[in-house]
Amino acid sequence: MPRIVQKYGGTSVGDVERIKKVAERIKAVRDEGNELVVVVSARAGVTNELLARAQAVCTLPSGRELDQLLAIGEQETIALTAMALNGIGVPAVSYTGAQAGIFTDRVHTKAKIKTINSKPIEKDLAAGKVVIVAGFQGINEEGQTTTLGRGGSDLSAIALAAAVKADRCEIYTDVDGVYTADPRVVKSARKLDEISYDEMLELASSGSKVMQSRSVEFAKKYGVVFEVRSSFNHNPGTIVKEEVAYMEQVVVRGVAVDKDQAKVLVSNIVDKPGSAAKVFRTLADANIIVDMIVQNVGRQGVANLTFTVPKPDVAAAVRVLEPALKELGGGEISMDPKIAKLSVVGVGMKTHSGTAANLFQALAQAGINIGLISTSEIKISVVIDLDRADEAARVAHAAFKLDAS
Ligand code: ADP
Ligand code: ASP
Ligand code: MG
Repeated sequence: MPRIVQKYGGTSVGDVERIKKVAERIKAVRDEGNELVVVVSARAGVTNELLARAQAVCTLPSGRELDQLLAIGEQETIALTAMALNGIGVPAVSYTGAQAGIFTDRVHTKAKIKTINSKPIEKDLAAGKVVIVAGFQGINEEGQTTTLGRGGSDLSAIALAAAVKADRCEIYTDVDGVYTADPRVVKSARKLDEISYDEMLELASSGSKVMQSRSVEFAKKYGVVFEVRSSFNHNPGTIVKEEVAYMEQVVVRGVAVDKDQAKVLVSNIVDKPGSAAKVFRTLADANIIVDMIVQNVGRQGVANLTFTVPKPDVAAAVRVLEPALKELGGGEISMDPKIAKLSVVGVGMKTHSGTAANLFQALAQAGINIGLISTSEIKISVVIDLDRADEAARVAHAAFKLDAS
């Protein structure tokens, strides 16, 4: 029997009516003679609501307690989805992350999956049941509930597809697939029929929240080909797979904007070997992911370091850096949350020149100032004012002729 892993995101299971619709879709696929493992997210908005409540009672809640709280969002939808299936005569059983054998490391709120023991799932599949698994959560070796970072249900689905050796993996969301830019921001964005893992990874890690970046990394590592498609219609989606030669003919595949980064400036830090190491080791030890980094040439024995971190981590970054700077003999920290990162991504950049120049020129013509710049083999990113971010995405999209004709 063909085995399919499906994942339904927050909007797809946004209320009881949507959950009933999803149950109907699952039933139809099962009736065609497929085995199904279905990962569901919390209802749209629930994870944010839970986070807001946590903030309302404590400014810096512990990771363990946050995970205890956040995990309940998905626990509601697994049970309701299984019930909805039972209600239309489909045998189904819900699993929390722990019950599904999803073992993670110990890093609360952004845990990594270490192994999956799929034996219990296999048993229920063999018994003819549809297995509904809570996305975004797992259990660590101490038996504590963990969560996999925002958007983590994508990772649950991809990892389960690898673990149960699924024939197909389908990620159902509220748009028809992966577009050349966020279709809610760039109206002229086009749906892509396919995209390489590397491009999807760069777009995802640059702010295209259609896929969680860690999930794409995992898919690439384990060769899980997956399709992103809509749960609101039956249109074909976007296939995400290994790069093939003809993909390089396109220089820019897509544009992404990340509004969830903040800029941190560490100024007047002692300019000596080991200063940067100390700053970034301190951040790494606090599990804070640093993105763009720029260091100015030192003058009069001091230097400035500028970098970006996820907005939710800014307070923690400042807190851990203050004592580290004291140890180094001085330095001041300031931050700017009103920034955004604009990125253009495409495997064709490896073989075509002039992409950076074209991007900078288009932004200059629109009067958009560039702060930091960073590049990889297939990506160019710039930091700009938060207020101009959406406009910049449209400018870049048009400059690289991605607009639908
Ligand atoms: P889900 O709850 O199904 O996981 P998300 O909200 O996490 O859905 O992701 C889907 C959203 O991603 C879309 O509604 C869209 O606005 C946004 N998005 C951002 N960039 C892109 C892109 N390049 N292609 C498609 N959607 C994108
Ligand atoms: N509910 C979680 C979130 O909102 C996980 C997910 O939806 O993928 O981030
Ligand atoms: Mg998502």
